[in-house]
Amino acid sequence: MIWYPYQQMKTMKEPYHIVDAQGVYLYTREDKLIDSVSSWWSVIHGYKHPELNRAIQEQTERFAHVMLGGLTHEPVEKLSQKLEEWLPRDLDYCFFSDSGSVAVEVALKMALQYHLNRGNSRSKVLSLTHAYHGDTFKTMEVGDDPDYHGILREKRDVVHIPTQVEELERVFAEQGETFSCFIVEPLLQGAGGMRMYDVSFLRRARQLCDQYGVLLIFDEVATGFGRTGHRFVADLVLPDILVLGKALTGGYIGHAVTVANHKVYQGFYSDDPDHALMHGPTFMGNALACSVALRSIQLFEEGDYLSRIARIQQICRLELADLDDPRIQEVRIMGGCACIEVKNSRDVEGFQEFARRRGVFSRPFLRYIYSMVPYVITEEELVQVTDTMKAWFRR
Ligand code: PMP
Repeated sequence: MIWYPYQQMKTMKEPYHIVDAQGVYLYTREDKLIDSVSSWWSVIHGYKHPELNRAIQEQTERFAHVMLGGLTHEPVEKLSQKLEEWLPRDLDYCFFSDSGSVAVEVALKMALQYHLNRGNSRSKVLSLTHAYHGDTFKTMEVGDDPDYHGILREKRDVVHIPTQVEELERVFAEQGETFSCFIVEPLLQGAGGMRMYDVSFLRRARQLCDQYGVLLIFDEVATGFGRTGHRFVADLVLPDILVLGKALTGGYIGHAVTVANHKVYQGFYSDDPDHALMHGPTFMGNALACSVALRSIQLFEEGDYLSRIARIQQICRLELADLDDPRIQEVRIMGGCACIEVKNSRDVEGFQEFARRRGVFSRPFLRYIYSMVPYVITEEELVQVTDTMKAWFRR
């Protein structure tokens, strides 16, 4: 018996049964559907990509996995080297793990221990309202969405602020020295409702973090690899720790990485064994994941993806900007993400089935109908997605 995610199993409707997937399309026995959400925002190059398939197949012939405890191998070495070159400035030190949630846990643990290793005890974390950073315990605690974290009745040592500069300045002035880190989904808060905010907030956060000795963590599990229209938001404002997941492997295999800058790494580098980072997921640096991630990054570089994403943004703006309906609260578009927020969650009910009948797979949640399409989508296919969203309000 499969226990499905985020579902009341008693009332859940049958999931669509996928028998094949190719490019932007998911196939059931009856339907061919454009995946407008890229399998939780990860499948940026589309399904069954020949190059990515080959990368996995070739590595499978050698070996699928060996642990990183006392062992190393070429795929993980090459991937860390590539990330070191590719990521901005001194974001050079790669700690791999098997999922975004774990990679965020690692980032928070790094921040806590960074201060401890320097003889300071700073246990508090600053985070955003509507934050989502994963479903494990500490990530739930730094998250701020009762829809996901409702079972956590008591939160300790976490302060949430909205994305407003005045609030940021106030909280730093009052409690700045007590925070180990400030964790954000930069520019685009995904699961908390596709909320978009300005880079000036992050610039001010960077200054204040420096001033108060607080580490700035960018959780780019969702925003990384172009989703906001920038390669990484870290290209605009430099964090101390960067977390990547989802699209890291082109959506092929769960894998993630927590990348620290030189300062953070130096905080652990010592003759004292107690200063080591005591963490080690079994499947960190998995050889299949690293091989496919490396090829995925090459595709991203070779394929002029930022232009493609700019085009996706332009089309979404053109197609959705004129959407005017009393049920709609706001239409938000940034890079490869388009979101229609409705006023009442009832106005989302039935959209998934409506979209299926129009050849689109969608997964609206709460009050949000959104798309995060694979970047290889054609204009015609993208318009099919936006037309479906528009048609829902014109029924
Ligand atoms: N951080 C963010 C911003 C996310 O959107 C998600 C997943 N949606 C995670 C962390 C957790 O990643 P995973 O599901 O791979 O654990």
